Amino acid sequence: MNNKLCNVFAFILLTASTCQPTPSASSANAGEITDRSTRVSTKVSTKASTKVCTKAGTEASTKSSTKVCTKASTEASTKASTKVCTKASPTAKVTIAFNGGFAETYTPAQLITAGVFKSAPLVGGTRKRTEAVKYIVLHSTETESPADAQRVVRSWNNRGKSHPGAQYLVDRDGSVYQTVSPEITTMHVNAFKTRFGVNNSNSIGIEIVRSGKQTYTPKQLKSITCLCLYLQKRFDIADEKVVGHYYVQPSDRTDPVGFNWQMFAASKTTLNYLATKERSDKNGTSIASAVDTGRQPPNKKGG
Ligand SMILES: [Zn+2]
Repeated sequence: MNNKLCNVFAFILLTASTCQPTPSASSANAGEITDRSTRVSTKVSTKASTKVCTKAGTEASTKSSTKVCTKASTEASTKASTKVCTKASPTAKVTIAFNGGFAETYTPAQLITAGVFKSAPLVGGTRKRTEAVKYIVLHSTETESPADAQRVVRSWNNRGKSHPGAQYLVDRDGSVYQTVSPEITTMHVNAFKTRFGVNNSNSIGIEIVRSGKQTYTPKQLKSITCLCLYLQKRFDIADEKVVGHYYVQPSDRTDPVGFNWQMFAASKTTLNYLATKERSDKNGTSIASAVDTGRQPPNKKGG
């Protein structure tokens, strides 16, 4: 393994574990942790039975990014000498599962309730699905000037009843916005121009917020990794069916522009491996390795 590969792998390990903010004490026990003098512990473990604790609540376990948790407890002490242990709230469990790559049993609505997804509803521009979901199509917004996800959704909604849109947007800070349930169709590809049979009814669109010379942020990569793995498992979508818009509509689309598919594939493989390991540890079965197929697209310009 050369230095470059080492660096990449190290980055993947670092990024794979936490896509959304690690559920902090405040999300687990909002009432108990509002006092700044409170000491909170959280620790992450691969063992299902181990409780989660580190010092000071805001510190996720950055040392062991390869670790995944299933059970978490928040240990808080409102007084120096008294400690109170409670189990992680259902909300925190959902977030941990999403970050760990094993949230597929949770519905998108539950992920919104847990704060994993933020809601930015589409007004118009949606249809009922007529086909099963087979593809995930990644896009980049390519706005003229730097924008955020909510502004992009507003601009879609201002374009009449039938307008473009995607089910998900990943903002610059890694926030994941859901515009409509992935069970509903949005218009994110032009089915008259696509190939391989990809259309809006059999695909889910994910827009990554980007403009001009902006590069994708590490937080975006983390969130895209977790989001894709969640959707792939929930809708049984193979790795090779996660494609770029440019790939299925090459006549007039080049997005997601400059997206690092190799990094994405490696990050997803790592997360899936950890999720599988977590499940195996829980069930006492052997570990199955995940397989992913990265694809390096041409680095075209345009949106
Ligand atoms: Zn696109």
